Amino acid sequence: MSKIEQTLSIIKPDAVERNLVDEIKNIFIKNNLKIKEIKKIQISKDEASEFYKVHQSKPFYNDLCAYLSSGPIVAMVLEGENAVLFNRKLMGATNPKEADENTIRKLYGISIDKNSVHGSDSVDNAKKEIEFFFKN
Ligand code: UDP
Ligand code: MG
Repeated sequence: MSKIEQTLSIIKPDAVERNLVDEIKNIFIKNNLKIKEIKKIQISKDEASEFYKVHQSKPFYNDLCAYLSSGPIVAMVLEGENAVLFNRKLMGATNPKEADENTIRKLYGISIDKNSVHGSDSVDNAKKEIEFFFKN
C-alpha cells in the first residue's frame, strides 16, 4: 500500500561544505520526491540539542549537537509515496561503510558522524521535525 507522506531531510555541514547540495537534491528529484520547502540555515548548539534530544543519553550526543551546529545546513520537506521510509532507503545506513551502493551516505558520507544527511525515521517524528524547522 502506498501513501503520500512528508519527511524532513537535512543536508549536514560536511555535505554543504563540499558543495554537494545540488547533487543530493537531484537524487531526491530523480526519485520522485518533491522538495516542498527548503532553507539554508545555521542552528545554535541549543537548537541542535533540542532537535536531537531523543539521543540525549547516548555517548555521542554532545559531539553530534556540536557538529550539526558547526556550519550551514540545508533543511527540506520532501513529499512523495512512502516518503519517510523511502528517504531512509535513499540515505543508506547510518555508517557510510555499511551503506548500500548508490545510497547518499555510501556516495558522500565520510564517517558515522559526518554522514551527510539526516532523515526522519517515522511519520510522527517527521511531523515534529518539520514543525521544528518550518513553523512560521
Ligand atoms: N551518530 C554518531 N555515532 C554513532 C551513532 C550515530 O555520531 O555511533 C550520529 C550520526 O550522525 C547519526 C546521528 O548521530 O546520523 C543520529 O543517529 P541515529 O541512530 O538516529 O542515525 P540516523 O537516523 O541518522 O541514521
Ligand atoms: Mg535517527
